[in-house]
Amino acid sequence: MAKKYVYSFKEGNKDMRSLLGGKGANLAEMTNLNLNVPNGFTVTTEACNRFYEENEEIWQDLENEIISHLHELESSTGKQFGSTENPLLVSVRSGAVQSMPGMMDTILNLGLNDKSVIGLANKSSNERFAYDSYRRFIQMFSDVAMEIPKAYFDSVLDSVKEENNRDKDTELTADELKEIVEKYKKVYKREMNEDFPQDPITQLKLATKAVFKSWNNQRAKIYRKLNNIDDKLGTAVNIQSMVFGNMGENSGTGVAFSRNPATGDSNVFGEYLMNAQGEDVVAGIRTPKEIHTLKEQMPEVYKEFEDTIKRLESHYKDMQDLEFTIEEGKLFILQTRNGKRTSSAAINIAVDLVNEGLISKEEAIMRVSPDSISQLLHPNFDPEDIKKSTLISKGLAASPGAASGKIYFTSEKAKLAAQNGEKVVIVRQETSPEDIEGMIIAEGILTSRGGMTSHAAVVARGMGKCCVAGASEVKVDEENEVMRVDSREYHTGDIISIDGSTGEIFEGEVKKINPTLSGNFEIFMKWVDEIKRLKIKANADTPQDATQAIEFGADGIGLCRTEHMFFKENRIIAVREMIIAKNIIDRKKALDKIIPFQRDDFYKMFKALNGHSFTIRLLDPPLHEFIPHNEEDIKKLAEELNIDKKVIHDTIIELAEVNPMLGHRGLRLAVTYPEIYRMQVRAIMEAAIKCKKEGISVHPEIMIPLSIDRDELNFVKKEIMEEINMVFEENSEKIDYKVGTMIETPRATILAGEIAKVADFFSYGTNDLTQMTYGFSRDDSGKFINEYIRKGIFEKSPFETLDIKGIGYLIKMCTENGRASNPNIQIGVCGETGGDPQSIKFYNEINLDYVSCSPYRVPIARLAAAQAEIERKNK
Ligand code: ADP
Ligand code: MG
Ligand code: MG
Repeated sequence: MAKKYVYSFKEGNKDMRSLLGGKGANLAEMTNLNLNVPNGFTVTTEACNRFYEENEEIWQDLENEIISHLHELESSTGKQFGSTENPLLVSVRSGAVQSMPGMMDTILNLGLNDKSVIGLANKSSNERFAYDSYRRFIQMFSDVAMEIPKAYFDSVLDSVKEENNRDKDTELTADELKEIVEKYKKVYKREMNEDFPQDPITQLKLATKAVFKSWNNQRAKIYRKLNNIDDKLGTAVNIQSMVFGNMGENSGTGVAFSRNPATGDSNVFGEYLMNAQGEDVVAGIRTPKEIHTLKEQMPEVYKEFEDTIKRLESHYKDMQDLEFTIEEGKLFILQTRNGKRTSSAAINIAVDLVNEGLISKEEAIMRVSPDSISQLLHPNFDPEDIKKSTLISKGLAASPGAASGKIYFTSEKAKLAAQNGEKVVIVRQETSPEDIEGMIIAEGILTSRGGMTSHAAVVARGMGKCCVAGASEVKVDEENEVMRVDSREYHTGDIISIDGSTGEIFEGEVKKINPTLSGNFEIFMKWVDEIKRLKIKANADTPQDATQAIEFGADGIGLCRTEHMFFKENRIIAVREMIIAKNIIDRKKALDKIIPFQRDDFYKMFKALNGHSFTIRLLDPPLHEFIPHNEEDIKKLAEELNIDKKVIHDTIIELAEVNPMLGHRGLRLAVTYPEIYRMQVRAIMEAAIKCKKEGISVHPEIMIPLSIDRDELNFVKKEIMEEINMVFEENSEKIDYKVGTMIETPRATILAGEIAKVADFFSYGTNDLTQMTYGFSRDDSGKFINEYIRKGIFEKSPFETLDIKGIGYLIKMCTENGRASNPNIQIGVCGETGGDPQSIKFYNEINLDYVSCSPYRVPIARLAAAQAEIERKNK
């Protein structure tokens, strides 16, 4: 039997989305739920892929299959294609596997021609409606199937409106619409050198082809890249009999969400327009009405609508995004899908659905993508600074976030400005899919027209980008690049700030402050912590970062880089003096100057951590990094230290290395100069004792970088323990502490069994380990790694996501051997990959104890760790 490429809605269901596309699968599901869905059928994504193999032509068998389904549709609707009495009209709708709103094309009212339009007028006794549908069809078909610019038709429409003093499209009479149709056909003929196609089958073939081709239009490609959607999935084509929202004042069309997609509020949220069709609501042509007013206008329709949307929500167990049309008082459902939402809405909805008993905590956790919550962790405008700022106007709070930047009125100019490093806010009357690239680079988006479901609002929410839409007091003159509010004017390059959570627009830049976790987010993260197994620690070198990390739920600090403390203004001079010192006596003198600073640093860190564990890495980088290299700074240093410039030059020569990445650093430094680590551990323990006396509990974990060998580690360990014991004796006080090492060299992973005997913990430094295992410099390899990605050799940079095959193998082996020889050893990761969800999945699988990442990634890592654990259990 030949392969089946076409399915009627009755044959499909929601689980067939990879074949039927999301739209087609859900139309089928709703048909089988006996909802009012206009009849139709779906041409599969497999047909789309074959279409590309057939050199972008519809092959004969497919045509036959489509026509046979069309005949079925004719008999089930009692209408005929092209009929002069009761014509069948269809929509030809794209529908990808994953929703790509507004990225691909749809044609409505197909089947109209000079004869069937008369049939439609007679059958509906509504000539105005028939010609309104025809003019819409000609324009859409020309645009989508023939790529004739929309603007040619818009200017015809505008001029007829103007001649007849019509403000809105709905005021046009039947005769005026007839005139428009005639003029539209002339535009078509002018552009195509042939008449507008009158044969409905020809129309259908061309439209189907155009929808297939829209899979590969520029904006769809960009959208897929941005959202990591596979280019090979293809789109389905849905061919569906039309229902009409443009039949008069008791007809209309709308879009609605079963819950608020911006906030997650549980009330139905939506917009509609009476006497309108298809995209009118989204396109921002007229300002739509808020869905709740439909309750007064058509109470019965509203009741049915509300029941339907709630029923679909419980059926799909998720917030639904619905498209509907009312034809002369009868409700039709044209689309449903799981609605896109902001990350704060995602959290609120997930928590509410659990509380309503619709889903489990685990399902709720799996619904929120870890990377998306970074939105919630980003700074908001400081309320104090808002008070001092000048409010320009207020629009709809379409997508939360706080953005400041220079205003630009076109996507192209915004893109150029962003390439030059400027922060940009795009200001437009409304956005369209052509603006997608500009929206990607912008800090925020401001539109003067359109509602909460306008293109700008939907796309911005999808991207997690700040957006204020429908700011109607703001008059945007795109052509002259000026935005006016009352008598004030703002031009290209002026700075504004927009608040996507309140809709407010301010002059100039408003200061930002860090957020806190509260409300449903806090509840959600509690569930996350109940389920996750991995501990999440943070990398932090300052008390502020440590406090932020604890606020974000970190189980302590997994990496404090002490060299960052060395660089601070008031102590770098002593550090340099220590490095230049020619003998141990001079070096100790300099170290004595540094120790009060270090002690104070550690004291403040312990205090901020208030009992959480604190992993402190002793000095790691090669010493030459601390010495200035340009002549002016060398001169200054010589003056400050009261020495000859030559001494510094000599030191520079002495410290110079051919290959500093593989140089005298980490543990090797400590073997040469044990007094440096002695100074550091003394500072740590003195600070710890001071805290203990003040009643603050302390858990220092001393981490030695870059070890390669058990005896090497043991040598340094003895040195520092001797110093620590001296501190304990001097103070008649003891502190519990651990000594462990970073595993960053391939040799250390191989000798893990030996090294583990002298270490309380291992922490994988995946940056160095990756660098040394690959033999690539992390700082220089960007250039060719990108090329590897482009040429498909690497999928991602191994410095961002762990290379599970190679580095992951070493880590797994090292962990197993380390634990075998020291069952109490604690093992974690503190490199860049510690905060990467994909890598976390692997770390969870091999049973590490913790990962450590930057404070802002802590909540992301917590969620990723919980998801990893749920997935492991479900396996
Ligand atoms: P998109 O994927 O861009 O939303 P759709 O295929 O959903 O495109 O269609 C665009 C608009 O046309 C929607 O508002 C939809 O409700 C409307 N529409 C599609 N098919 C029909 C139909 N058979 N009858 C009436 N309106 C339709
Ligand atoms: Mg749609
Ligand atoms: Mg390192």
